[in-house]
Amino acid sequence: MVSSLVYLDHAATTPLASQVLEAMLPYFQREFGNPNSLHQAGRAARRAVEDARSQVARLLNCQPHQLIFTSGGTEADNLAVWGSVRTHGKRRPHVITSSIEHHAVLDACGFLESQGVEVTYLPVDAHGRLDPDAVSRALRPDTLLVSLMLANNEVGSLQPIEKIAKRLQDHPAVFHTDAVQAVGQLPLDVEALGVDLLTLSAHKVYGPKGVGALYVRDEALLAPLLRGGGQERGMRPGTENVAGIVGLGAAAELAKAALPEDGARLARLRDRLIEGVIGGVEGARLTGHPQQRLPGSASFCFEGVMGESLLLKLDMHGVCASTGSACTSGRLDPSHVLLALGVSKDLANGSLRLTLGRGTTKDQVDRVLALLPEAVAQGRRVGV
Ligand code: PLP
Repeated sequence: MVSSLVYLDHAATTPLASQVLEAMLPYFQREFGNPNSLHQAGRAARRAVEDARSQVARLLNCQPHQLIFTSGGTEADNLAVWGSVRTHGKRRPHVITSSIEHHAVLDACGFLESQGVEVTYLPVDAHGRLDPDAVSRALRPDTLLVSLMLANNEVGSLQPIEKIAKRLQDHPAVFHTDAVQAVGQLPLDVEALGVDLLTLSAHKVYGPKGVGALYVRDEALLAPLLRGGGQERGMRPGTENVAGIVGLGAAAELAKAALPEDGARLARLRDRLIEGVIGGVEGARLTGHPQQRLPGSASFCFEGVMGESLLLKLDMHGVCASTGSACTSGRLDPSHVLLALGVSKDLANGSLRLTLGRGTTKDQVDRVLALLPEAVAQGRRVGV
């Protein structure tokens, strides 16, 4: 990568922290044991996995045995959504989610619908926030699962998870939150949040790709999706990704040590970026909530310009950003999140997401602020 690269796509992935890499390295070679073996090589690997479980538990304020390691956020979301419905056997319960969830939840819910489960997709307001009253209204006696994300990956809006948990207190529904984007940016405490299940992913918090975890308050709430050797107390069989899990543990420990200062620093840079873009680029609109948003997330729509063309222009200047849109089989669809916020299709096509992280500096923010007005103007001139 170019050394002068300005990487503002931390919501897509974060760079591996060097302390995390160091912690992982022995488990690729020297400490190669299978944590399920009884001999000393196996026991060393088991100790590493269990130490990592304790590190993640300290970040979330839960018990180590309440964590199940998975292959990432997508698997943890699928385990939460399908796994809780599978406890119901052949009965077809009701599920509540929102229209702005990540596809890992939305598509799992779509599959459930194809199997006869009824799913309610709650709308959000123009800032991407849910109304706790709407959750109360959607609850039914047969509602088995409520799955609502803590922080949105495209527009950064935070949901009132604690308030919603209080509304669910007297209802048996399982409450799941996808906290993939919030981990490391906001202090998280599963007790204070009041959730039953919580998803996290290592690569969004300076850990390795392909590893994540699901917090499970009580194992009785979940049935496994896979069958096999009984690892992770039967909830996620398969030989553990020891190096990855060690990396997740190290990343969790770093995140805990850096909070809340990390979040506060990011929020200052984010506000500088937002103020600079809104004040300096004509026709720029902030998407997501002005205050109730992730410390590292700034997202915009620009009238009369395609987000992808903006992205390429920024890339030419060494700035890595992203749009809110997903590219599916060669077709550029406007983001389902922006459409759910009431943004028009045209405006949604002009979206840009800039997500900051530990390596982001004030100078980098200022460099982007200097580039953006001309990049948008150029995009408008060529009509794309
Ligand atoms: N949930 C959210 C909110 C995400 O942003 C992501 C990744 O972008 C995921 C789930 C999926 O996580 P993973 O990439 O670890 O599968």
